[in-house]
Amino acid sequence: MNGNQTLTMIKPVAVERNYVGSIIQKITDSGFKICAIKMTQLTKDQAGVFYAVHKDKPFYEDLTTFMSSGTIVAMILEKENAVDDFRKLIGATDPVDAEEGTIRKLYAESKSHNAVHGSDSDENAQIESDFFFSKIERY
Ligand code: ATP
Ligand code: MG
Repeated sequence: MNGNQTLTMIKPVAVERNYVGSIIQKITDSGFKICAIKMTQLTKDQAGVFYAVHKDKPFYEDLTTFMSSGTIVAMILEKENAVDDFRKLIGATDPVDAEEGTIRKLYAESKSHNAVHGSDSDENAQIESDFFFSKIERY
């Protein structure tokens, strides 16, 4: 059975462009409940831990530099089938390939500056939620 929580980050480029409100509106309009929310800035080391799965990829250096370059908003979101439904809502990694109406189509600048993160599995949703939030920060 699929889990009902996922972890998202609104990435620095989207916070900088003042898209936080519009993106959260779209997320809640799509049936997700916000269970935890935090505005913060990652260090490069923290971004490296978060994206450790990509540490051998050629884009890892750019990715961790970008993700630590400014403010982000992290949220735990709840909905049936959360991981898959949220990835449908955000669209493809590269906004050029993302479907019309998806968050990345609407708000991403490019593949590397693509507005939002979404967990890719229930297991990673749990790991990523624990990365950002303690028990008393969840509702
Ligand atoms: P995210 O994990 O941020 O939700 P994703 O799951 O769609 O994105 P991943 O394959 O996990 O994509 O890659 C993580 C991030 O690394 C992407 O969001 C993107 O910004 C960047 N990235 C992925 N592939 C490339 C690439 N070929 N060139 C440049 N950047 C890339
Ligand atoms: Mg990913």
